[in-house]
Amino acid sequence: MASIEYEDIEFEEKDNKIIATFLDIYEFTINKEELEKLGECKINKHSIEITTQSEEKATNKINFLVECGLNQLTNKISKQPTTYIHRLSNIPLIGTPSFGIVDKGTNFLEIKPITSCNIDCIYCSVDEGLSSKKTRDYVIEEEYLFDELKKLVEFKECDELEVYINPNGEPLLYQPLTKLIQDMHSLKQIKKIHLITNGTLLSKEKIDTLTEAGLTNISLSLSSLNNKEIMGKTCNLDHIKEMAEYASKKLNLTLTPVWIPKVNDEEIDKIVQFSKEINVKIAIQNFLVHKGGRKPTKKEKSWEEFYEQLEELEKKHDVKLSFQEEQPKIIKTKEYETPFKKNEVLEARIVCPGRKPKEQIVRAMHRAITVIDSNRNSGKIKMKIVRAAHNILLAKFCR
Ligand code: SF4
Repeated sequence: MASIEYEDIEFEEKDNKIIATFLDIYEFTINKEELEKLGECKINKHSIEITTQSEEKATNKINFLVECGLNQLTNKISKQPTTYIHRLSNIPLIGTPSFGIVDKGTNFLEIKPITSCNIDCIYCSVDEGLSSKKTRDYVIEEEYLFDELKKLVEFKECDELEVYINPNGEPLLYQPLTKLIQDMHSLKQIKKIHLITNGTLLSKEKIDTLTEAGLTNISLSLSSLNNKEIMGKTCNLDHIKEMAEYASKKLNLTLTPVWIPKVNDEEIDKIVQFSKEINVKIAIQNFLVHKGGRKPTKKEKSWEEFYEQLEELEKKHDVKLSFQEEQPKIIKTKEYETPFKKNEVLEARIVCPGRKPKEQIVRAMHRAITVIDSNRNSGKIKMKIVRAAHNILLAKFCR
């Protein structure tokens, strides 16, 4: 008998198909008939068994079909095809702003283990969530992400590092998040771990678990207390409030609402009051129109107007809202060299699709480069680098 177990995959039978759920939110299907050609097939929650004389053949077949499935994942929330980025995928974790690790040569590092979001804020600057126009998602193998981070941490020679788990999307959708935080916490150079979340997937147990794992700070992007239009109809605002109250007693919580002129003025007032009630810091963000982001208004507040209005709110609520003089201490550190320069022309192999149509990710010099306007989706392509700063690389396809 051949039997293979997969810890991260849950199997279920439906209409003679095997539905496999990977890391809670990704799905692929296996044709059961393919397996039955080899012998009687039994599907368990985390394993597949085939009663057969040729154990090796059956084991190879199961592994092959699961591997094919992992290459054809669908995100159950966004319904988008998803690339699983793992150690053997040949996809570097440095180079794109969409996934992996972003290091701008300071003690602050950004980690992006996943894309996609479970809600739908009308102001989303990265166009994530249920109405997103992106056509591809990514999820990174935890061990691969941690190993690459560890190498970078050792290279930087800085003992005051802070890591921001700040994906284009909601980090609590990342199933191995607790493990990732535990692993990062084990590195003595990392002093703080911040989670940027919408809070919808928090529970009291989750807050306790994450805190025990080493999470020190949560930034909660709560931009409305009552108006369901602002963060999307599926967003349970009462739940977020309850979680904010609980988290405020467990770790450093900051409320980070986005203030959109004439859209959530009243809500901002209520959120300031709420921050006082639960005694946490509030860092209001000025809404800015981002190319590619969602735009509930075309009007931005000037920074002057924004700080004037913050001052009025400070007086009204007797609370500190402006932290211009209290910016966190930024320490300059070593950073990996950016191996390409603007206008450089190169050829590289496509390793996976990009997040938008006609976008591809290529690999060159251990970097992932986003190539736009590409009319090819496999093989080697020629491109010209149009942006190269702090290892964030963007290139244009050359015909
Ligand atoms: S929670 Fe963040 S990522 Fe999700 S839709 Fe809102 S702004 Fe975008």
